[in-house]
Formats: sequence, structure tokens, C-alpha cells
Amino acid sequence: MSDDLFLKIIRREIPADIVYETEHVLAFRDIHPQAPYHVLIIPKQRIATINDMQPEDERLMGRLFTAARELAAEAGFADDGYRVVMNCNAAAGQTVFHVHLHLLAGRPLSWPLG
Ligand code: AMP
Repeated sequence: MSDDLFLKIIRREIPADIVYETEHVLAFRDIHPQAPYHVLIIPKQRIATINDMQPEDERLMGRLFTAARELAAEAGFADDGYRVVMNCNAAAGQTVFHVHLHLLAGRPLSWPLG
């Protein structure tokens, strides 16, 4: 298996503030939060970018949204609102090449993005 930063977090080789874990999915607080609540939700299986998704990954990618929904509800943001974002490649600002859903909440989030 090729290596990346988030695989090291999954293997507990580097520390992270883990807030959610299932057989297939892990979520932890972003080290440079862009909102009062900023969690990264990742599949335990490495998929580098959205471009690398295969048809058989559809269920797994859906589980990331299930985690986002559950975490947002648990943290009390379901009604007020929250944002989920997944960047793909350099022009969108992707810096870690292991797909991850950003879950952001706790302040007004402007739209459109810069
Ligand atoms: P992206 O720019 O979409 O690839 O997002 C990568 C995110 O990973 C950024 O928001 C970083 O702050 C975050 N990040 C990088 N290293 C760590 C780490 N060790 N623990 C938690 N979050 C991290």
C-alpha cells in the first residue's frame, strides 16, 4: 500500500484528535481549523483524489457523508447549517492526496468561495 500522511493517522503513527471511527471511516480535527468546528473525514482505504474513485468506491464515499451528517448532528449544527467540501488537485487547494471531506461549522460561511 502506498503511504500518505492520513494513513499514518489511521495507523496511529502520528497523533490526531480523532472524533469518529468506524470499520471504514475515520474523522479527526483539522490541525489548522478554518472554522470553530473543522473536522476531516477520510476513508481508511486510500483513494488519492476524486479522480481516482472507482465505481466500487461509491458506497465508501457515501459513508463519508453519513459520518458528516452524524457528526454535525452530534455537535449541534444540523439545524443552523454546516459545510462539507472536498478539494481535488492543486487548483482547488488539495494538499494531502488521500481523499477527505472537510466538515466546517460554527461561524457564518460565505458563498461563493474565494
Ligand atoms: P486539503 O488542502 O483539502 O488537502 O486539506 C488538507 C487538510 O489537512 C488541511 O486543512 C490541513 O490543515 C490538514 N492537515 C494536515 N496535516 C494534518 C494533521 N497532521 N492533522 C490534522 N489535519 C492535518
